[in-house]
Amino acid sequence: MLTDLPRVHFDLVEQLDSFVSTVNPDLRLLTLNRFGRRLCRIADDHDLQQDPLYVHHFHDSESLQFLQNVVFPYARAHQCWQGQLLFRDRQGQAIPTQIKVLAHHNAEGKVIHFTGIAQTQSHDATQLLDELTERIFQDAIEGIILTDSKARILRVNPAFTTITGYQADDVLGKTPALLRSAHHDADFYQQMWQTIALQGSWQGEIWNRKKDRTVYQQWLKISRIEDNQGQVSHYLAVFQDLSIIRSKDRQIHQLVNFDRLTRLGNRELLVSRFPPALAQCQRQHARLLVCWIDGGQLGDVNQRLGLTHGDRFIQLQAERLQQLIGPEDTLVRIYADDYILLHPLPAKTRHDTKLIGRLLEALKQPVELAAQVILPCPFIGVACYPDDGQSEEELLHAAELAMFAAKEKKQAKVQFYNAKAGADYHRKAVLRQKLSTALLSTEPALQLHFQPRVWLQDGSTAAAEALIRWQDEELGMISPADFIPIAEQSHLIVELDRWVLRQLCRHLSRWHQQQLTPPLISFNVSARHLSEADFTDWLLHCLAEHQIPPSALEMEITESALIDNEAKAISKLQLLKDAGLRIALDDFGTGYSSLSYLKNMPLDTVKIDRSVVCDLSTNPKALCIIKSIHLLACELKLTLTIEGIENLQQHQILAELGCQQAQGYWYAKPLPAEQWARQWGSRL
Ligand code: C2E
Ligand code: MG
Ligand code: MG
Repeated sequence: MLTDLPRVHFDLVEQLDSFVSTVNPDLRLLTLNRFGRRLCRIADDHDLQQDPLYVHHFHDSESLQFLQNVVFPYARAHQCWQGQLLFRDRQGQAIPTQIKVLAHHNAEGKVIHFTGIAQTQSHDATQLLDELTERIFQDAIEGIILTDSKARILRVNPAFTTITGYQADDVLGKTPALLRSAHHDADFYQQMWQTIALQGSWQGEIWNRKKDRTVYQQWLKISRIEDNQGQVSHYLAVFQDLSIIRSKDRQIHQLVNFDRLTRLGNRELLVSRFPPALAQCQRQHARLLVCWIDGGQLGDVNQRLGLTHGDRFIQLQAERLQQLIGPEDTLVRIYADDYILLHPLPAKTRHDTKLIGRLLEALKQPVELAAQVILPCPFIGVACYPDDGQSEEELLHAAELAMFAAKEKKQAKVQFYNAKAGADYHRKAVLRQKLSTALLSTEPALQLHFQPRVWLQDGSTAAAEALIRWQDEELGMISPADFIPIAEQSHLIVELDRWVLRQLCRHLSRWHQQQLTPPLISFNVSARHLSEADFTDWLLHCLAEHQIPPSALEMEITESALIDNEAKAISKLQLLKDAGLRIALDDFGTGYSSLSYLKNMPLDTVKIDRSVVCDLSTNPKALCIIKSIHLLACELKLTLTIEGIENLQQHQILAELGCQQAQGYWYAKPLPAEQWARQWGSRL
């Protein structure tokens, strides 16, 4: 019975959930139970006799010294030592333990063995770490290969399979050589392994082959893993598929820097390309052309055909531009149909007008959309580095100003920046800003002046035209000829016209209260204002509000009011005429002077522009024209007013011809409201 005891003890120790090991005085392991073997990653069938293990295999130098200098001497003297000790498994992994070291003495009191009984100190923590490591291995988006010291594959993770197409079973036991492509020669691999041997790891780009034979580029890191004695135990390879990363990079780059509609660059690309383009031109003493291209007509296409056709229109423009530019150029769409082109010129070249001319020509070509032919009207403003500016901002600003200058000519055009045009534009911007402030201000910066229209036969007042005047504190008196065209470029003109009419109504109300009955008063309305959807409602409401009968007024419009939508404009005029308002066609004899307008519009008066009569006394042709229009007006039962009469001669000629009315400095200049009221009142 007793003889079986050691066997029983052995079995017990084997089953314990603690590390138990007995070592001899020279610290060689005599026994190590199953728990201990698993903890230290030693094979279950490891034969300690044949393949001896020592205490130093399980400790780093620090804890080994602690064992030798403290633990064993103490246990020798006191039978037992207990405390905390850091173990290392065969792969070098740290294992914190709580250990009891017992010294076994023989009859002479000499220590013959030590037994260590250890509990892993944070068993849970180690387990958690193992689980986490496993989780990382499973979830990593990088492919991972673990091999033994002979580079035979022990494990691969799921990402390995995703990237290479190989299942774990295809590769276990084989070497990673099966992944190689023919891209690298033997020297390459030799150097790689040499680096791993010398430095512990290697990383770099490498071409490998997938299971489907496609060759791809990966970023690979191979690390050598050593055991406690510095011997290679494993190799760990971690890799990423660079072709995926690079295509994602390309997609991101595309999204960030390119315009989705046209596939041209966008503002971001311009910002990144501008400084190097400037720097290069500076180094090479070359010029850089900065072109601001406005495709033209987009607003019209959007309005007439809708936004989808508007988009297509932009795409067609972009294709045309793209075809003409070279690899050195940067072309971006910054918004709507506005593009910026950076075009470096060869050193010592001034202007490559050929390319810009070609761009303009290409954009001008008719476009067919929704069975309609559109005739684009592009504008290109060009600024040149270093002549027109040094920085991106200066050059873009100059190119934009040049583009605006081109736009003012109202026909497709390339305009090179010049400082004067820039200053003009600046002045216009200032005027626009000041005018919008003046319209809101209660200060009397804006005023109405009145200029009489007289009967040629007896010189009596037939009517008066209300004309706006603007006195700015800083800039002094500003002529309507200056600021009306600026206001006409924006919604400001609508504000201005409405301000004039409200002001006119106030004057009329006041004169009415003063028991004065002014003659017919005419006021000017811009084409843009007339085209507002609520124009007629607003006007009639404004008159009603001030209790002004429409028949007290005449509205002056120019031909341009009819150009965009003649039928609509005419129906509005008819509505107002039916309400009692008189309608005058202003500035006849300039622009198209279309006779069809005289025929179609519900007119009462035609005003001949000053330019037609300025040389009346010297130019027989001018006399001829006036005669003809006079006859025409009589036939059409229209009142004819000739504007710009400045001298007696002109007056006499017109009076002799039998013309009805005239307006001009010869009779009176435009006067402030009260002054004019006094003058006309005294004539009554
Ligand atoms: P318009 O409607 O043809 O007005 C006549 C212009 O000729 C006025 O210039 C007037 O002062 C000027 N004029 C009159 N008699 C003579 C003359 O004998 N010789 C010369 N050289 N000029 C004469 P003004 O007031 O500078 O206005 C210029 C233009 O500005 C006007 O031309 C009109 O188109 C526009 N405008 C003026 N006031 C308004 C307004 O309240 N609303 C709108 N929409 N436009 C206005
Ligand atoms: Mg007028
Ligand atoms: Mg006029």
